[in-house]
Formats: sequence, structure tokens, C-alpha cells
Amino acid sequence: MSADNFQCGFVALVGRPNVGKSSLLNRLVGQKISITSRRPQTTRHRILGIKTAEHYQIVFVDTPGLHTRQPRAMNRYLNRAAADSLTDVDVVVLVVEGKRWQEDDDWVLQKLQDLSCPVIVAVNKVDRITDKQTLLPFLQELAARRDFVEIVPVSARTGDQLAQLEAAVLKYLPQSPPLYDEDQVTDRSQRFLAAELVREKLFRKLGEEIPYGLTVEIESFREKGGVLHIHALIWVEKTGHKPIVIGNKGQLLKEVGREAREDMQQAFDQKVFLQLWVKVKEGWADDERALRSLGYDES
Ligand code: GDP
Repeated sequence: MSADNFQCGFVALVGRPNVGKSSLLNRLVGQKISITSRRPQTTRHRILGIKTAEHYQIVFVDTPGLHTRQPRAMNRYLNRAAADSLTDVDVVVLVVEGKRWQEDDDWVLQKLQDLSCPVIVAVNKVDRITDKQTLLPFLQELAARRDFVEIVPVSARTGDQLAQLEAAVLKYLPQSPPLYDEDQVTDRSQRFLAAELVREKLFRKLGEEIPYGLTVEIESFREKGGVLHIHALIWVEKTGHKPIVIGNKGQLLKEVGREAREDMQQAFDQKVFLQLWVKVKEGWADDERALRSLGYDES
């Protein structure tokens, strides 16, 4: 692979929660990397998905931090992380939902105001729109909101028009040799994925009951005799949140542990021994230092 005919660059996927950024990323990269869920805010970290083809490599930067305004440290951190991840990218793909423009979309768009790099809009979930004609006024409204270089209706669910989206991105990707190994799809460690899997299960099981500020930290991650021993701490903000996470007779936590372990075994192709602990860290979401100590750091 020579630099002459090779393109490589960073592409940020931005958009309000639930528009389908993670789904899109997984589809484009062809592997489940970030965890999708019906609930917003499940992906807190910047995740890289890397797509390598014969003549190009696209490094996707997910910016799940572009949320709505909330006066808490967690959101301040998320917003800052999102803003940081937008500098030094070659292309921004703004993901919106077909025919559903919301206040939060405006807020994200506002964050892009001073960006000089090209912005492409992916209008996702068009599989839900039966009469495609009805999409046209929405696309026209979109075009008037900013000088977008392209607007591409897509469906992360069916894969419809994803090739077009990729082609649009490639138009703006610089000539450069690949930055990552061909077989590397994410730079996130197994440790990170392990924490994500536990968090995903918790979010799915707890539904509306999910305590605000819940987070998962992998305390230790060791291989011993061909078995991965993983200890995960589930941090909650209030003592009262603990029984919610543990569930009646420890049932909920047990199920979370079992399902997360099964997924880990599949992801890591190895036997996993998983231990979960629930701990209380009062008011931690308001404490930026505590956030950093838990690994929510920009670096
Ligand atoms: P994110 O918060 O922007 O990362 O959104 P997710 O990727 O987690 O998706 C949010 C929800 O929208 C999930 O329930 C997805 O299954 C759903 N979704 C994502 N893409 C599509 C799509 O193209 N069509 C439909 N119908 N649903 C989608």
C-alpha cells in the first residue's frame, strides 16, 4: 500500500442521542464495536471504528458526548470531549433522523458552527419512511440550515445507501498512508469492551429505573490458566441505588453477570470468570476529579 494512491483520515460521527450513530458505525465498519441500545447516553466514550479497504482507510471517531445541556459535571465532561474530538478531523458526518428534526439537532448543529472541515449529513432511518417523496421537504429544510457538502439519506438498519455515504466521505479524505494495521478495527482494549458489556446489560435490565450516574470500572483483568478473570465495579451515586442494581435476592445482578460473561466469552474467544461488585460513590457525577479517577479522561 503506497501513499500515492491511498487515502486515510478521521471522520467524526456526530448527532443527538438515538439518531443511530452507533448502528451506523457498526454497519460501516462491519462489526459490532460500540454498544447500541434504545437508551440514550449508553456510549460515553469516544470509540474508534476503522474501515480498511484496498485504497483507503477511514478512521471513525464517535462523539456520543454531544448531548443536551445539563448542568452536571458528567455532561460538561461529555461536551468538552465531544468538542475536542471535532478538532483535527477531516470530515464530519452529522447524523440526523429522517423527518424528525429536534431541538437537540439544532444544538449539535450549533456546535459545528465554527468548524472549517466539510460536513456531510446522513439522514438515517429512512427505512421507516414508506413514501420517500415525503422526505424531500425535510431534505430541503436541511440544506437551508447550513452549507453541507452532501446530504445522503441512509438506513443503518437495512444498509441502504451506505455505499453512497462512504463515497461522499472518500471525496474529502486526504491522501495518506494507512495509520492503523489492516486488521485493527478498534483501538479500544478488551478492558474497555468488558466494561461496556456490563454497562449495556445493566442499562437493558434496569430500563427506566437506571440510576443517574451509574458507571462501570474494570478493577482487574487478568489471564490465569487460560481463563480471563475480570473484576468489575459498578459505581452508583447513592446508597439507595445499590439495591436497585442488585435486584431482588441479587437476581438482577446475577443475570447481568451471566449475560455479560457470555458476551465476553464470545468477544474474547476465551473462558471468562466475571465478578461484579456494586459500590457507592456519593455525588461523583458532580466531581470532575472523581470522573478522571474513574478513567473518564480526555487523554
Ligand atoms: P446513537 O445513540 O445515535 O448511537 O443511536 P443507536 O445506534 O444506539 O440507535 C438508537 C436506536 O435507533 C436503536 O434502537 C437502533 O436500533 C435504532 N436505529 C438505528 N439506525 C436505524 C435505522 O436505520 N432504522 C431504524 N428503523 N432504526 C434504527
